Amino acid sequence: MVTTPESAVAARAHYEPVIGLEVHVQLLTASKIFCSCSTRFGDPPNTNVCPVCLGLPGALPVLNKKAVEFAVLAALAFECRVNETSIFARKNYFYPDLPKGYQISQYDRPLAEHGFIAIRSNGAAKKIGITRLHLEEDAGKSLHEGTPDAAEKTAIDLNRSGVPLIEIVSEPDLRSPDEAYEYLTRLKEIIEYTGVSDCNMEEGSLRCDANISVRPHGQEQFGTKTEVKNVNSFRFIREALEYEIGRQVGVLEAGGKIVQETRLYNANEGKTYSMRSKEQAHDYRYFPEPDLLPLLVDEKWKAEIVRQMSELPEARRARLVKEYGITAYDAGVLTASKTLADQFESAAKAAKNAKRVANLVQGELMGRLKAKGLEIEQSPISMAGVAASADLLESGAISSKMLKDLYDLSFQRGQDFPVVYEAEGRPVQSADTSALEKMIDELIIANPKQVEQYRGGKKTIIGFFVGQVMKASRGQANPQLVNQLLSKKLGG
Ligand SMILES: [Zn+2]
Repeated sequence: MVTTPESAVAARAHYEPVIGLEVHVQLLTASKIFCSCSTRFGDPPNTNVCPVCLGLPGALPVLNKKAVEFAVLAALAFECRVNETSIFARKNYFYPDLPKGYQISQYDRPLAEHGFIAIRSNGAAKKIGITRLHLEEDAGKSLHEGTPDAAEKTAIDLNRSGVPLIEIVSEPDLRSPDEAYEYLTRLKEIIEYTGVSDCNMEEGSLRCDANISVRPHGQEQFGTKTEVKNVNSFRFIREALEYEIGRQVGVLEAGGKIVQETRLYNANEGKTYSMRSKEQAHDYRYFPEPDLLPLLVDEKWKAEIVRQMSELPEARRARLVKEYGITAYDAGVLTASKTLADQFESAAKAAKNAKRVANLVQGELMGRLKAKGLEIEQSPISMAGVAASADLLESGAISSKMLKDLYDLSFQRGQDFPVVYEAEGRPVQSADTSALEKMIDELIIANPKQVEQYRGGKKTIIGFFVGQVMKASRGQANPQLVNQLLSKKLGG
């Protein structure tokens, strides 16, 4: 990160950032949007191609129904109004990875409009408007490295050409890089819950462009914006926006003007660089795609799609709190991804005490996963294993210290909890009753008054003895066993 001088920090306080985001999300269809080629990632270059996605003359596009359904699902999850009729349009530009010379997108009549994403900003709820959500095809990919003659030549891989995308355009409602980060986190979470994309940023399934301008506080009119393109992590977007706000304020404070342009972020340097002057919509000479009919999503089809809608993150959090008696904070952690939430629920259902499962997942499992840099899917301890360990803890068969040790062994050996528990000979806490009995005998001798009270009928005094034994065993003794032994020795 670049350090900012104090004078610049002071100047920055006079300006308000205005940010809007354009997010491209790749849909998880098996085939491309206008042909039957596979969308599989990582196949050898140019093996998933046909005349349509190669852009050969005369080839005709045929719309993939599944892509439309996924796009409608996403639109509904963002509370958008789905237009009954939307129109595909040609967006004309030349680029080596775009053999047709145009991209099929949607322009003045997009699939869906007027949605929002609820975020939290400084502890308060805030709605960020979604202007539009439309369908389009992806372009191919220029390969500048990885081929034998990469020093002289750029290769083209058209496997990605024609992969279905949705573009989600926000209103310029975001007022800080932190809000942008929160918006993207919520957007990704909602998309993941709908199941229409894996949102894998490394594979380019989710890409973000940011429009940013600054204006003096109190001024209604927007300043001139710049666009930061293709930043491939949410953290980098936050950094790029921070840098860009500082840069724009610096230019304005020095009496300069912001040039409307597209800039690229260099994550190593923490800076943005001018790439080209920003295109205007008219530069693309949009016109309706003559090879495709208007897209009709009538009420009947929409109702069918609604039935495929899975529970969304906010609703799920509320339900987990109610159903399993966990806190809102716990519910927030456990729903961070759909996989984690699914796994938690299966364990909570299997175990005797859901709250204990929640505590173990958060306290014992997540910490160990984080320390090892593992995702929940890679955990050696399955959720069934967590449920089993929770029950052992619940019954008092093992102590929390023993559980921690067994979890450590699981992570060392890469084995699930029940496997390790068996291999360790199903350990039971303080099974050595002779040590406990000795402790109790000593207590009986040392506390004749309490023994007399107990034998005189004040049975509750047993709690005193249990407490003493637990203390003497440093919490390792099994309370049920202690109770049994005490009753026997005191003569119940
Ligand atoms: Zn194809």
